[in-house]
Amino acid sequence: MRLHEYQSKEIFANHRIPIPRGRLASTPEEAKLIAEELGGPVVLKAQVLVGGRGKAGGIRLVKSPDEAEAEAAKILGERIKDIPVRRLLIEEAVNIQQEIYIGMTVDREKGETILIASAEGGVDIEEVARTMPEKISRVGVNPLMGLRDYQARNLATEIEIPRPLWRAFITITQNLYQAYQSLDATLAEINPLVITGAKRLIALDGKMILDDNALFRHPEFVDKRDTSIEPLEEQEARKFGLAYIKLEGNIGCLVNGAGLAMATMDIIKHQGGEPANFLDIGGGASSEKVAAALRIILADPHVETVLINIFGGITRCDEVANGIRQTLAEIETDIPFVVRLVGTNEHEGREILASANLPTAETLEDAARKAVEKARERRP
Ligand code: GDP
Ligand code: MN
Repeated sequence: MRLHEYQSKEIFANHRIPIPRGRLASTPEEAKLIAEELGGPVVLKAQVLVGGRGKAGGIRLVKSPDEAEAEAAKILGERIKDIPVRRLLIEEAVNIQQEIYIGMTVDREKGETILIASAEGGVDIEEVARTMPEKISRVGVNPLMGLRDYQARNLATEIEIPRPLWRAFITITQNLYQAYQSLDATLAEINPLVITGAKRLIALDGKMILDDNALFRHPEFVDKRDTSIEPLEEQEARKFGLAYIKLEGNIGCLVNGAGLAMATMDIIKHQGGEPANFLDIGGGASSEKVAAALRIILADPHVETVLINIFGGITRCDEVANGIRQTLAEIETDIPFVVRLVGTNEHEGREILASANLPTAETLEDAARKAVEKARERRP
């Protein structure tokens, strides 16, 4: 789950990371009011979940409350990289002397959290990594020891932070680690972390991503998700607890278990076909869940055959079969189905499907081959 800048900054503030004063506005009038409260020049920042807002016109510096109102009126009607701007973060403008990058994420190869820092902040860090890799410093964080003072100090030296700011830098990185750790984040990034004219460090931008698999431990975030950037079918899948990922092919897959779903995709490819999606309905799925999964698959215009592969354990084949029958009663479709159903209650399941004129295949190989053939027949 990606958090907005204002949400990340709330978290920063709770972890004693300095941020500019500011508030959220959703109308030009509010923007003016906040600008008056803050006094002096302010920055209007579009709260849209896209990178590089600055370059795309999503960050505006204005000098007065009236200007804030006028500029807010413009930007609130615009789209930044095709996302409509509904809210603005209005913040006091900061006098920037230097822009630094710091970010924390999982290093999958080493299997630990790493803290990344660069004196080339403000811009796209991927670009820095590509063109000036020597300008990026990294340090691994041991989960039992946490981020130690000396590690943060070494980074501060490497990226040449002035010595009087070392203590502040160490505290900010450690607090960021705290935030990252306690919220089960997969990314916590401050870009830029700014050295101000008054020689203070302040987080001017913030980006956090929380691990969806750990969200049950942070229920306060569940209804704060901004779904405006997500495809409808992914929102629908989440609602029913389905793991769904859209792919490029034309054979829709409905499978129970992630491993089996992967194997199913492999076999489809092995038979010369292309899966249209990964979809794991999970263990013990109800007929309602199966029906939701099928609706999502059938809504994809690229799908030309559906392959259902169920290995019933906790999942009951009759329950799955009922879900399929229900959906076909609701949705009229001429898309061919190939079903392989084995395990718990498979006989009951097959009978239900036979009554709906859906023959079942014996083996996965057989099923995959039939699915690939049927998809081909539909493409003259
Ligand atoms: P991003 O483009 O989405 O990463 O948005 P940022 O919040 O990082 O802002 C992009 C750039 O706008 C920063 O790197 C700064 O150069 C500039 N900027 C943002 N806030 C201020 C501010 O308060 N004062 C000044 N002078 N520049 C700012
Ligand atoms: Mn930024």
